Amino acid sequence: MATVRDFLEKINIRAHIALSEPMAAHTSFAIGGPADALVRPRDPGSAAVLLAGARAEGIPLFLLGAGANILVGDRGIRGIVLDSFALRAVAPGGPGPGRGKVLVAEAGLPMDELCLEALARGLGGLESFAGMPGSVGGSVFMNARCYERELSELLLWVEALLADGRTERIAMRREEWGYKRSPFMPGGSCSGAFILRAAFGLEPADPPALACVMRGRRADREAKGHYRLPSAGSVFKNDRSLGRPTGKLLDELGLRGRRIGGAMVSPWHANIFVNAGGASAADMMALVELAMGEANRAFEARLENEVIFVGEF
Ligand SMILES: Cc1cc2nc3c(=O)[nH]c(=O)nc-3n(C[C@H](O)[C@H](O)[C@H](O)COP(=O)(O)OP(=O)(O)OC[C@H]3O[C@@H](n4cnc5c(N)ncnc54)[C@H](O)[C@@H]3O)c2cc1C
Repeated sequence: MATVRDFLEKINIRAHIALSEPMAAHTSFAIGGPADALVRPRDPGSAAVLLAGARAEGIPLFLLGAGANILVGDRGIRGIVLDSFALRAVAPGGPGPGRGKVLVAEAGLPMDELCLEALARGLGGLESFAGMPGSVGGSVFMNARCYERELSELLLWVEALLADGRTERIAMRREEWGYKRSPFMPGGSCSGAFILRAAFGLEPADPPALACVMRGRRADREAKGHYRLPSAGSVFKNDRSLGRPTGKLLDELGLRGRRIGGAMVSPWHANIFVNAGGASAADMMALVELAMGEANRAFEARLENEVIFVGEF
């Protein structure tokens, strides 16, 4: 703990810093013990100093977006959580391919705000992502997917701080992206990089028509209970070889409404697990393991987590 504090005093960056910060306040599950320190740089330069310094001193770093796809352990996160929250600028990036236009957004901008920005400029492409919780950076990392559209379909380039501290503009190489897969994940060519900004190629479109689609997406999520209780969306990925969505498979096992402590398989969608009140990470993990075990026994299915487990459990 002293090392993290000493390090943060020494580097003198423009940032909001909180020590022993409860991660439950920074995740959509509302679960998670304290991070040794949570740091919100106010500009990309400060993020670069933090990232390079922490790596040089061997201080572990976790890169945080909006916390909508993570389960943080009850004992929290050792080292520093580098939070993109304050990096929220969005601006036009000039002409894009064909008739298109480019919108460039910083990592901490909520996806929903990016959608609204595109709408205000009469640019189409992003409307399927309206209402999805999450930041631009986290959604690029996850290659978020909504209503059959993947974010990587719209990406032109990503600017990131690489693990060695250099800032690099990374062009799209389609083969590195796939279903819930991006080059920023462990094992990828940009693993460990902090996404600073992303450029999206969008097409001119009629604003009332765009607004109508966006309203529809939000209403659909509302009707499906996405915002009813704290969750991280789908817990498991889909697996085509199983012939049906994972939610359907968990349904067949009668898991809707199953509870361990405060963690519950939502009664309205079996692949969405919720914090029904006072859930610990241990409760949620136990419920995840129970579902995996039952799916394996009944269908010989090996479910793969979509939610990322972070920190000490
Ligand atoms: C109600 C609900 C509905 C959802 N519906 C969908 C859906 O339809 N489709 C879908 O794909 N997802 C969905 N999700 C999951 C979630 O919204 C997405 O995965 C989202 O893209 C996560 O973004 P985030 O900023 O919250 O990432 P976080 O949860 O903060 O982080 C996720 C991963 O990204 C990494 N990361 C975050 N920011 C950066 C950065 N700047 N640089 C490098 N790495 C970074 C983190 O280290 C972590 O490994 C849903 C979640 C909820 C709660």
